[in-house]
Amino acid sequence: MTSAPHLASRLQGFGTTVFAEMSALAVATGAINLGQGFPDEPGPHEVLDVARAAIGTAHDQYPPGPGQPDLRAAIAEHQQRFRGLAYDPADEVLVTAGATEALTAALLGLLEPGDEVVLFEPMYDSYAAAVAMAGGVLRPVPLRPPPASSGEVATGRWTFDEAELRAAVTPRARLLLLNTPHNPTGKVFTRAELAVLAEVADAADLLVLTDEVYEHLVFAGAEHVSIATLPGMRERTLVVSSGGKTFNTTGWKTGWVCGPAALVSAVRTAKQYLTFVNGGPFQPAIAAGLRLPDTYFAGVAAELQRRRDLLVAGLADAGLPVVSPEATYFATVDVRPRRPDGDGIAFCRSLPGRAGVVAVPTVVFYSPEHAELGRHLVRFAFCKRDEVLAEAAQRLRRLA
Ligand SMILES: *Cc1c(COP(=O)(O)O)cnc(C)c1O
Repeated sequence: MTSAPHLASRLQGFGTTVFAEMSALAVATGAINLGQGFPDEPGPHEVLDVARAAIGTAHDQYPPGPGQPDLRAAIAEHQQRFRGLAYDPADEVLVTAGATEALTAALLGLLEPGDEVVLFEPMYDSYAAAVAMAGGVLRPVPLRPPPASSGEVATGRWTFDEAELRAAVTPRARLLLLNTPHNPTGKVFTRAELAVLAEVADAADLLVLTDEVYEHLVFAGAEHVSIATLPGMRERTLVVSSGGKTFNTTGWKTGWVCGPAALVSAVRTAKQYLTFVNGGPFQPAIAAGLRLPDTYFAGVAAELQRRRDLLVAGLADAGLPVVSPEATYFATVDVRPRRPDGDGIAFCRSLPGRAGVVAVPTVVFYSPEHAELGRHLVRFAFCKRDEVLAEAAQRLRRLA
């Protein structure tokens, strides 16, 4: 972390992180970059062709503030088809500059200074900064990995302690920020776990903001359930998703939020003064993507599952205990068998030299007070072409 004398106090601690360092290391050493999670293949032509055709038309100009009507209709249809949830495209659906803006605008639009946000850690890196920008306070609850030993692919699930969750909910708690399927752990919250969360949210009258950008990247044996589908939850929940992960278009930044009109309206007020709108030609393209047949969505998950298995086999052969993720495109290892001091950052710094691969230390996804919990963990991405993953797995075996 560099010192930042001009940085506002609410953003102290959010300077350049080890993320940027690891990507630079990949470039400098020519190592395979399994650090940052972005795909190295184009998305479906049915989506790309629509964006190409839209450039040079009226789609180049500002779309309506809430998003193009046809995209809002496609988002509502998609929610109905996959979740059985009905949203009115007129005032219960808002198109945003990626899921990131939807989350940030929701926090800015809903939190009063000092309001507490209950969430699980490790956590996606934008959450802590967005809560800080909104003047909120984090109340993190740890997720704990299942036991895993050297040379083995563990299939257990990350879990949380219900008592720790309940203890994190104080009278200042205002919002539960959930991410399922979960980055970086690959955990999918079960219906039973969501029922506990729903009960806690209801008892403390919390709003729920759920980040479901990996909703379609779920593997055999797991099922994505939106907490908004649980009894009574739709009315207190904002569901956030995005086209980036589902259609291999992370650079397009086309996201959305669905929820009851009164909550969506608060998000829209903040969003209006952040970007107002973005990505005109990409909006009809993502609408086309959301209307692709079920076979497309199943195919994406099946292909990624194969890639998961390629990478986790290489990690296990390298002597790194690894948990096979239930979803997303990330796998987490425990570095201690290869690095007895358990220093995940040092492990990542030396990995390009030792094995020609770059990964990200999971400690960056924890609040400073809980950093110890993630110190020995490292995240690898597997959203890469088969030949890249096969080569990375081969290189990692050198660690053994
Ligand atoms: C990638 C990611 C996002 C960001 O989505 P965008 O649509 O690119 O803004 C949000 N949440 C999680 C958990 C992610 O992994």
